[in-house]
Amino acid sequence: MRVVFLGAPGVGKGTQADRIAAQFQVVKISTGDLLREGVRNKTPLGLEAKSYMDQGKLVPDAVVIGLVRDKLSGPSCAKGFVLDGFPRTVPQAEELGAVLASKKLVLDRVVNFQVPREDVIKRLSGRRSCPKCQATFHVDFAPPKKIGICDRCGESLVQRSDDERDAIETRLKVYEEQTAPLVRFYEMRQLLSHLDGAGAVDAVFQKLSQVLAPYRVT
Ligand SMILES: [Zn+2]
Repeated sequence: MRVVFLGAPGVGKGTQADRIAAQFQVVKISTGDLLREGVRNKTPLGLEAKSYMDQGKLVPDAVVIGLVRDKLSGPSCAKGFVLDGFPRTVPQAEELGAVLASKKLVLDRVVNFQVPREDVIKRLSGRRSCPKCQATFHVDFAPPKKIGICDRCGESLVQRSDDERDAIETRLKVYEEQTAPLVRFYEMRQLLSHLDGAGAVDAVFQKLSQVLAPYRVT
């Protein structure tokens, strides 16, 4: 099963990707994980990526796609993969297609997670994190026992600047601008399934499992 999950920040696709990976015994690949893994294993691409991150710069596409290519070639992807949050742009999608074609593989499906904008803002703006132990909470969905205090270590919780309302609006706008052409790209190739990502995690997982069931490798 080779699938891509598309969706704005806060639609819950990372959580669903974890569950699908466990259920279908495939590897979840996110660029964040790949970068951390590359840095940890000190691979040539990992070290190159680190040099950009250390300077606070965005890691270039060529490095990211190189990491994706290496991962897809590894034994862990024999049964397939879920790409979470990659590709983000049409050029990245074209690169991914070329990598797969070079291995005589194709994508099975691209799932576009859709959640109403106000729900996304509510999910993201309610996040709180602990600056000391990195634990995360949500004011509505996963509140700490004592308001504003970390359950694990007692530190005062903070809202990351990324999760403030203005920053969220900007993130969503950037996402929509970058990704709208990507949705059309996969639609034209008849690979796209839209998925209503609103509602409980279990209910969304049920719907998603049905969409992906035909691609299960046993
Ligand atoms: Zn803490």
